[in-house]
Amino acid sequence: MKANHETVEVNGRRYARPSAPVVVVCVDGCEPDYLTQAIRAGVAPWLAHTLEHGTSLIGECVVPSFTNPNNLSIVTGVPPAVHGICGNYFFDAARGEEVMMNDPAYLRAPTLLARFADSGARVAVVTAKDKLRTLLGEGLSGICFSAEKAGEATLENAGIERVPELVGLPVPSVYSADLSEFVFAAGVRLQETRRPDLTYLSTTDYIQHKCAPGALEANAFYAMVDRYLSKLDAMGAVIGLTADHGMSAKTDAAGRPRVLYLQQVLDDALGPGAARVILPITDPYVVHHGALGSFATVYVSPGPLAQARECLQRLPGIECVLERETAAARFELPPDRIGDLVVIGDHLTVLGTRADRHDLSGLTVPLRSHGGLSEQLVPLVFNRRLEGLDPGRRLRNFDVFDLALNHARSA
Ligand code: ZN
Ligand code: ZN
Repeated sequence: MKANHETVEVNGRRYARPSAPVVVVCVDGCEPDYLTQAIRAGVAPWLAHTLEHGTSLIGECVVPSFTNPNNLSIVTGVPPAVHGICGNYFFDAARGEEVMMNDPAYLRAPTLLARFADSGARVAVVTAKDKLRTLLGEGLSGICFSAEKAGEATLENAGIERVPELVGLPVPSVYSADLSEFVFAAGVRLQETRRPDLTYLSTTDYIQHKCAPGALEANAFYAMVDRYLSKLDAMGAVIGLTADHGMSAKTDAAGRPRVLYLQQVLDDALGPGAARVILPITDPYVVHHGALGSFATVYVSPGPLAQARECLQRLPGIECVLERETAAARFELPPDRIGDLVVIGDHLTVLGTRADRHDLSGLTVPLRSHGGLSEQLVPLVFNRRLEGLDPGRRLRNFDVFDLALNHARSA
């Protein structure tokens, strides 16, 4: 029986079976400073204690610093070059059309969650938005549902039913902090009632897009996170907290969004139709960022690649413009799913297509977003000391399961 084996191997990495329940939390858009400021404000006592007595490290997320590529990296333990998900949205060259990358058919590697479940572990996954549910739950025999569609979970489609009753909270609005609270509350109730061996909780960055670290609403969010994590800790769980990416203000000093409309620039320089700009941040939920992030890809060939590259490179606010192979190698991306050029904005700048294609009317506060290199550093926090860790090792957010399962010292 597989279930007797001490370890589970997935995508070339080996994970020890948990001796205590392991809960990995991906706090969407959690720039490390959010934790620092909440602790300084005195609203996150559990985190304060954990950062002192457990482990506090900084790791790198995957670029593009977007939600789906990073969540999939975390649950597969490998970069997008292996698992294939490099955005929310991409240009499917084989089909000749721009499509969402939500379909598990685009996933090229199994998740460690599915493999652990296959080997007899009890696994539970709770996401905030439904867009991630099918990817994270691919091949998984266990519990998997989103807060957004918690009311629709059935034994058949989610491995669990009557979720709102179990959690004791109403199904929240998709644009709210309550959506993330529901995820944590569900994680605690699952721990109380079913005690899964492995739990993955993934929130939404609604608050982080709106509020800087230390803002009242941000601190209230982390106070909420702190309350639920302390409950999981009290139940004996090994907790690993990381983020899919950081978050930066993307504005000038007057608070106006600093946007480069790349399709407009390329149409003016090369003539309309010569280049196609794809924004992989695009998804059905764009109210809080207007589909503006700091990462874009451009399809040029057959066309004036060098000219396109040159005209983008000299724009103020551009961090770098890389050709496909260079970008794929540097950021570990699948070359067949990115354009001929990868364009990255600097820490104050986001990239759009054309001004008339972005609805910024939903932006009631100065734009904050992500996608670039400037949002690459994220927290790796554990409520245990880690042992046997090479101090020179490059840490990634997708090492979080390795660190929690293979390196966390027992309590
Ligand atoms: Zn995110
Ligand atoms: Zn976001």
